[in-house]
Amino acid sequence: MREFVYLRAATVAEAVALASTTASDGGAPARYLAGGTNLVDLMREEVERPERVVDISRLPLSAVEDLPGGGLRLGALAGNTQVAADPRVRRRYPVLARAILSGASPQLRNRATVGGNLLQRTRCHYFYDTAAACNKRTPGAGCDALEGVNRGHAVLGASRSCVAVHPSDMCVALAALDATVNVTGPEGGRSVPFTGFHLLPGRTPQVETVLRDGELVTSVDLPPAPPGRGAYAKMRDRAGFAFALVSVAVLVHVEDGRIVLARLALGGVAHKPWRAREAEDLLTGATPGATAFESAARAALAEARPLRDNGFKPELARRLIRRTLTGLVTDAFTS
Ligand code: SF4
Repeated sequence: MREFVYLRAATVAEAVALASTTASDGGAPARYLAGGTNLVDLMREEVERPERVVDISRLPLSAVEDLPGGGLRLGALAGNTQVAADPRVRRRYPVLARAILSGASPQLRNRATVGGNLLQRTRCHYFYDTAAACNKRTPGAGCDALEGVNRGHAVLGASRSCVAVHPSDMCVALAALDATVNVTGPEGGRSVPFTGFHLLPGRTPQVETVLRDGELVTSVDLPPAPPGRGAYAKMRDRAGFAFALVSVAVLVHVEDGRIVLARLALGGVAHKPWRAREAEDLLTGATPGATAFESAARAALAEARPLRDNGFKPELARRLIRRTLTGLVTDAFTS
């Protein structure tokens, strides 16, 4: 691990000032440290080499609070375990609780935070191997995953510069829930729709979010819970502590025999949580059943472009979508 300057911020304003100083000086950007479950590993492997680390773990950003109108605000430092166990989350946003509990191990979820979950880096093994070519780690270096072992990589929205996937489960549910990310930085505060927060790789895979230099995620807002039911399902190589090959967050509301609300987001398939809008449009107004679910599953993966080792992913995703939708609607009619 390289040497770095460790700074502890007492307030949000101080954290932003400490992080922004380096950026405005033209130096390597500072990194915010919260739970450290990803950043510390990256620094140990010298994938990340920040000159400054600004410890934000003691900032008052860990509350989960009701919002006027029925929404919920998740503080950026709220723990993953804390959020998944919150009775309001379990009752109003079960898809989020399920997604969080699908990720990592209990020990990691106890340390990991909401903000850190959003900002965790890809688990592409070439990204972690400093001897490999990786445009995300070293812009312009190339991408060893393109012709290498790419079983777990992207099938949607990728580029020749990068085929990595975003590793989060929680973020897939947040995309389906139409959450909003609140950030503050040197220019003040702003809010970003969750589905616009993460970026596709394009030619700049090192730029993963719309965060500007020095900006700090302070909270994530959930709008009032949509009517209907939600589910999160995940396929992985082993039952515990593994990242998704494919995951799906689904919200469906049925009235008078028709689907009146449908949200569908996929994980493990793209550089960002992937909202399947075409599939949602096909489901909305349809009669729930095998025909509609098949059409939606096909639409969701219509643009899939598999790599050498992950040709199984589109079909796996289609099956997971069909199975999750079928389970949700069956439950709705039998309970
Ligand atoms: Fe790096 Fe992306 Fe290529 Fe992986 S897929 S080696 S993260 S550029």
